[in-house]
Amino acid sequence: MIVNAYAASEKNGPLKPFQYELGPIGPQDVDISVEHCGICHSDLSMLQNEWEMTAYPFVPGHEVTGTVAAVGAQVTHVAVGDRVGLGWHAGYCMTCQECLDGHHNMCATAAGTIVGRHGGFADTVRARGASVIRLPEGIDSSKAGPLFCGGITVFNPFVQYEIPPTARVGVMGIGGLGHLALQFAHAWGCRVTAFTSSGSKQAEALKLGAHDTINSRDPAAIATARGQFDLLLCTVNVRLDWNAYLATLKPRGRLHFLGVQTEPLDLNMIPMLFGQLSVSSSPVGSPGTIARMLTFCDTHGINAVTEHFPMSRVNEALAHLHEGKARYRIVLDRD
Ligand SMILES: [Zn+2]
Ligand SMILES: [Zn+2]
Repeated sequence: MIVNAYAASEKNGPLKPFQYELGPIGPQDVDISVEHCGICHSDLSMLQNEWEMTAYPFVPGHEVTGTVAAVGAQVTHVAVGDRVGLGWHAGYCMTCQECLDGHHNMCATAAGTIVGRHGGFADTVRARGASVIRLPEGIDSSKAGPLFCGGITVFNPFVQYEIPPTARVGVMGIGGLGHLALQFAHAWGCRVTAFTSSGSKQAEALKLGAHDTINSRDPAAIATARGQFDLLLCTVNVRLDWNAYLATLKPRGRLHFLGVQTEPLDLNMIPMLFGQLSVSSSPVGSPGTIARMLTFCDTHGINAVTEHFPMSRVNEALAHLHEGKARYRIVLDRD
């Protein structure tokens, strides 16, 4: 079977139509007929080979929704025609301790959907069955792709750390990740504060579920939040004054990093010690947690706020993201 995709042939090169042969389906494989695919910052990082693990020709795309086109002989949890999604991982070993414990996203040999494989900027993408998750009835698949990477990234900490609804949560950065974090934290029952430098985003953050906002460029405003938060979710990928944010945590509070920071963190240890503070990070989530997130989204009417481009205009869409213009997640629609 021939797949029609969009690929870059070199680092930072433009995406061009690219065809490849899929080969026979394996017993645990699922082929998805792609209908929509979100664009994540990681697609840009991989395109630029920032993490030095990109293979060219490179087909990005790991926020896929579509329908099942074919299943291998051992696949029983989805059938041809089912509405499904696929995120960062396209398969897990299923036998290591982490997989056996349900922490598949920690599997040392998990396959990345766009790492050494061709991703979802295509008419078809193949993945191992365990990473292909059915969409609940009420979820609009045209907007749901971003839940599979951006969404699960910000949902996972609520599950991992058993955040109670009485927690006060701050979300740093209102973009692809942050706009979903606000919705999750609100529906979880928490008091939610958005930290953003953009005036227009402050008003939108309130609509997305924030109870209040703080100007992240104003040190005096941040200082007024001293000792307020149980959990801070940092979704930005630029360096901020981390110690100013640590000071806004309550004793036993947590600063959790989700946006990728490539520079070392400079953190004052003494307030961490006396406040018994935690600093942590996590990548996406397990398939079990993705399924729980989708049910939660269905129950609470949560979905990504999306801008749409036809897949054939993928380069324009990537430029739009690169320029920081996305409000809040870009989705490519197959055309
Ligand atoms: Zn991603
Ligand atoms: Zn494993």
